[in-house]
Amino acid sequence: MPRAEDRAFAARLAAAIEAEGPLTLGDYMARCNAHYYGTRDPLGAKGDFITAPEISQMFGELIGIWFADLWRRAGAPGNARYVELGPGRGTLAADALGAMRAARFEPPVDLVETSALLRGLQREALGGACWHDGADTLPENAPLLVVANEFFDALPVRQYVLCAEGWRERRVGHRDGGFAPLLGEPLAALPFAPPASRQGAVYEHSPAREALMRALAGRLARQGGAALIVDYGHEGHAAGDSFQAVRGHGYADPFLDPGGADLTAHVDFAALEEAAREEDVRVHGPRSQGEWLTSMGIALRAASLAKASPERAEELAAARERLTGPGQMGRLFKVLALTHREWPEPEGF
Ligand code: SAH
Repeated sequence: MPRAEDRAFAARLAAAIEAEGPLTLGDYMARCNAHYYGTRDPLGAKGDFITAPEISQMFGELIGIWFADLWRRAGAPGNARYVELGPGRGTLAADALGAMRAARFEPPVDLVETSALLRGLQREALGGACWHDGADTLPENAPLLVVANEFFDALPVRQYVLCAEGWRERRVGHRDGGFAPLLGEPLAALPFAPPASRQGAVYEHSPAREALMRALAGRLARQGGAALIVDYGHEGHAAGDSFQAVRGHGYADPFLDPGGADLTAHVDFAALEEAAREEDVRVHGPRSQGEWLTSMGIALRAASLAKASPERAEELAAARERLTGPGQMGRLFKVLALTHREWPEPEGF
């Protein structure tokens, strides 16, 4: 049964479609996720899904070590800032900042987060920080050390389907009390270079993700710093429909109970890379999460934590396997880094 607030949201969405006509899939995804994240904590056993920092402290700690090492070798600029996009409960930030503090690096913190509810949890986890609705208000006069884990996958994608009459955009309509996908008119011009495809092929394009990537790359080029993007997705422009809803740790119908499940699509890392290369930055990877964590020394980290608390040895081994195992998160998740042209070579690539 949908919650009362989800039912009220679905009624507003239906009214918007009555008034404006069918939404693009991207608009549908953006509106649903804004409601979803604004009204609940989606993470953890009682929520809908689990992320790498919620599995183990080792994930955030290795990211903190990566930033601290790079920052020190870049000459330890005193005004550098830690920036996180979509910090969830603030767990990654707490673990990364802890590891950075141990390396005597304590940067001020900027968080990009739209959910007031999650901002509250982040405040509890971290104490002080500066919150932003989007990346455009981040400070302009300092090197930025930016991390985003499972953030880009939640940003809206649009879908195009190759039909006999040409490419048509997938939209979301409302009929007989339910939401359902439908196809718009054949398009004369496309906002992307269409891949060679067969009839029935689906192509996902995300202007929102590409614009954010260009903006981040431009900031790094002008201000210095580095970015680490971790998400599930593919290295090439893979054609196909990866739009999905996750709820209660399983897949759900993305058109049933809008705003009641997490809506995501796989990240097209080739598209992110191309967007970043429009600015004068260096791009590293993507590498699989398993390979990256392994070359960052997750085995050593697990061993030293297990030595300090032998009763946790089994739990640490299981967490390491979950984060790096190829059949688990190790292969599907990718790590992409950007660095300022004159910053040193980052670890792990
Ligand atoms: N990075 C965290 C949480 C991932 S869930 C982790 O690894 O555990 C996605 C996060 O992005 C949530 O904090 C959500 O509120 C935030 N978010 C989703 N869409 C957003 C948007 N358009 N702008 C800002 N934050 C957004």
